[in-house]
Amino acid sequence: MMMLPRKLGEACGVCGIYAPGVDVARVSFFVLYALQHRGQECAGICTGDGRVAHIHKGMGLVSQVFNEDNLRWLRGDLAIGHTRYSTTGGLSLTNAQPYLIETALGPLGIAHNGNLTNTSSLRRDLLQRGVGLTSSSDSEVITQMLAGAPGDSWDKRIAAFILGAEGAYSLTILTRDAVYAVRDPWGFRPLCLGKLNESGWVVASESCALGTIDATFVREINPGEIVRLDDSGVTSWQTEPARPSALCVFEYVYFARPDSLLEGRSVHRVRRAMGARLAQEHPVDADIVIGVPDSATAHTIGYANEAGIPYGEGLIKNRYIGRTFIQPGARLRRRKVALKYNPLPDLSGKRIVLVDDSIVRGTTSGPIVALLRQAGAKEIHMRVASPPICYPCFMGVDMAKREELIAGRMSVDQIAAHIGVHSLGYLSLEALRDIVAPASNGHCEACFSGEYPVIVRHESDRSMFQ
Ligand code: 5GP
Ligand code: MG
Repeated sequence: MMMLPRKLGEACGVCGIYAPGVDVARVSFFVLYALQHRGQECAGICTGDGRVAHIHKGMGLVSQVFNEDNLRWLRGDLAIGHTRYSTTGGLSLTNAQPYLIETALGPLGIAHNGNLTNTSSLRRDLLQRGVGLTSSSDSEVITQMLAGAPGDSWDKRIAAFILGAEGAYSLTILTRDAVYAVRDPWGFRPLCLGKLNESGWVVASESCALGTIDATFVREINPGEIVRLDDSGVTSWQTEPARPSALCVFEYVYFARPDSLLEGRSVHRVRRAMGARLAQEHPVDADIVIGVPDSATAHTIGYANEAGIPYGEGLIKNRYIGRTFIQPGARLRRRKVALKYNPLPDLSGKRIVLVDDSIVRGTTSGPIVALLRQAGAKEIHMRVASPPICYPCFMGVDMAKREELIAGRMSVDQIAAHIGVHSLGYLSLEALRDIVAPASNGHCEACFSGEYPVIVRHESDRSMFQ
């Protein structure tokens, strides 16, 4: 039996640009550079010049995949781009995006962030119609569904695709004459629109990418909305959105960059509010509050301010460690953490509050705590600015399988003993809901609550294709 390469859920970064007279490949490069935190495994850009499409993609960081030579060939007025994220499964170029194929309506390029939850039935439909597939990727399924959808225009084909697809997709689509941006009816993953000079437009996963290229933020793309960028400017229309909507709360906790806006709010501010609530829920006497850099910095500042305990640096992170660095070997997990973080000597004799944004597998916290002990910390009180993660994500964050989630199999006391801290406190789900609720009419919090906004048929998918 043929073994298909496996693709698990991913929280990637996507972009789309329509800008006549602009070097769209270069602009895409800078947008992807600003979205690098959403995926470090592969990067790709596809451009269109009104006749043919050009593509370059590869494994590694954006700065490793692109150079002056390969950017030069990416000509045109239209572009889409992608950075791919993956923690598990083989590293493979097969999964690099954008996908580009030729269709009856001309070139079709796709960049996808998210994960479909009904992939297996969609695959079956495609295979029965005689469409060949080269991977188990749901993004390839999206590409083939669009290529074969009924309708003599992309507007109609995209509408037909939305009717059949379930789960998470923030898409940018390149066609001969237009770039489209599509957000699933639940709005699981973010997507926003910006204006680039007089006649250009850009869409990106996060607003932090707009400032980088001197574009101005216009608005977020709504759940269920289709946006077309072409020579008549921005045209958009709305398909039926899901009620309630379901933006991923983990974007607020960890994934988005703190300088992005989500649902009109600064991610940095929301994280500070999470830290402040955490201080109210789990106060402790201590000398200093430190965070696990860089992802927990905002939460840590919020905790320290609310608690009235000085905020300080305790761990210094090596900025140059990416995801592609040479792994020290599975048995050297502690070494891996030591390669990434060094404790500062002034922690000696101190009672420390150690704040992290989340605990997923629970493999990082133990070695970090051990480092702080070696540095002479007297007490270590760990505080986590999100609730225990007990359930896997099928909507695009490749966190872990259920068995791998430490809070799925251990109580808070057991986790505290396992990582070796004096005390451990998590933000409650009620507090998290209070903080994010005012902005919209619903969020996906399935990793914390186990309540999935869509029926998940994904587990069977996995076993089928392995
Ligand atoms: P773990 O508990 O799995 O050892 O790791 C928790 C740490 O990983 C936290 O510092 C958190 O900031 C970070 N983290 C949370 N979610 C993700 C993710 O999806 N990918 C990566 N690379 N790190 C994550
Ligand atoms: Mg972190």
